[in-house]
Amino acid sequence: MAGQKVIITGVPGAGKTTVINASMEKIAAERIPYQYINFGSFMFEVAVADGLIQDRDQMRKLDRTAQKHLQKLIAEKLAAIDGNIIIDTHASVKTPSGYLAGLPAWVITTIMPDVIILVETDNDQILVRRLSDESRVRDVEGAKAIAEHQEMNRAFAASCAMLTGCTIKIIVNADSLLDKAVEELTATLR
Ligand code: AMP
Ligand code: MG
Repeated sequence: MAGQKVIITGVPGAGKTTVINASMEKIAAERIPYQYINFGSFMFEVAVADGLIQDRDQMRKLDRTAQKHLQKLIAEKLAAIDGNIIIDTHASVKTPSGYLAGLPAWVITTIMPDVIILVETDNDQILVRRLSDESRVRDVEGAKAIAEHQEMNRAFAASCAMLTGCTIKIIVNADSLLDKAVEELTATLR
């Protein structure tokens, strides 16, 4: 039987990687096999090998054609993977020319996920998290712009559900309620 394919998305600072890491530990302890794949890392490896960029945060500023080409390559790699997988990615990426669908038709129908998870939280919390994250070059945005991005991500995710029949699950990752978010994700993976 084919494995379960889970796509997990959220605006930068929503804390999806944090939630996933904690959840993957629980899943591993229960001996449920899951492969974790970071879409951005895959893309970054290819982009660096092609000499396009040196920094992960330059990727969203690449021209649209280059980004689409990279997306297609990665989607094909992901579709070839057997078993349970969890893909850490973005429903949309903010680029200089507007929102780029992270999961456009030719990507989502290649992957054919069972479920798309949206990790969300309050816009103000995301703003504060971004300001305190020195490991990344986050774009400086106000709470209103973050709200717009979160709204757009719901629209992009809904389009994916219409194309593939996958379900959509919203998980709130509020400050000091990380355990709750982790438990919800773990339950979905089981
Ligand atoms: P992250 O570490 O999750 O913030 O992802 C790093 C970068 O990877 C993002 O800023 C995007 O440039 C790129 N990326 C990740 N997923 C996608 C996707 N599905 N489509 C296009 N770019 C993506
Ligand atoms: Mg991340």
